[in-house]
Amino acid sequence: KSFAHLPISKLTLRGLKESKYTVPTDIQRNTIKLALNGKDILGASQTGSGKTLAFLVPLLEILYCNKWSRFEGVGAIIITPTRELAYQIFETLRNIGQYHDFSAGLIIGGQNLRFERGRMDQVNIIVCTPGRLLQHMDENPLFDCTQMKVLVLDEADKCLDMGFADTMNAIVANLPEDRQTMLFSATQTKDVKHLARLSLKDPSYVSV
Ligand code: AMP
Repeated sequence: KSFAHLPISKLTLRGLKESKYTVPTDIQRNTIKLALNGKDILGASQTGSGKTLAFLVPLLEILYCNKWSRFEGVGAIIITPTRELAYQIFETLRNIGQYHDFSAGLIIGGQNLRFERGRMDQVNIIVCTPGRLLQHMDENPLFDCTQMKVLVLDEADKCLDMGFADTMNAIVANLPEDRQTMLFSATQTKDVKHLARLSLKDPSYVSV
């Protein structure tokens, strides 16, 4: 069954088709349905399992197909452990979101902090690495994410293994509580469970 059998918008369907995605995996179908029903998601997933679409499709739908219709300010933040993963997510987002009207920014360091800061005030969807995001939150009191609706914690175990446990906990504590969160992790360590407790509300469990 194609993506068209899911309750997703024409604009997203066109973006998926244009990017040559026609049939969702079972897991993508499940995760998309649950997330579109407003559930937080706790996903057990390996790299390469197809989780990117599982979170990007509902993210776009939540931001752009509802009462906000055209979202102003930062609506979603996607946190991933490495620059490479951030690039891949950013590219997939640009491809499947090409018919929606939004701007996305990569906040991954290796660039002038001031330049990144300027970008952050203009984008609706931020794809970032944890350390760099916290640096911006700490050093830029004007950074406004109070309208934020969707948080994705991608490869959370890897973020924690890289020494970002305090950083991740601090980020989650700084974000508005009235949001939907999707956390993906290959392993369910004690630290992952702790972060899941801090960040998720009554999550649905999916194995991606
Ligand atoms: P990910 O785990 O999200 O990085 O995806 C792994 C690979 O699977 C990527 O190359 C995707 O383009 C591909 N992929 C994910 N979902 C689908 C799908 N529904 N149909 C075809 N290819 C897919």
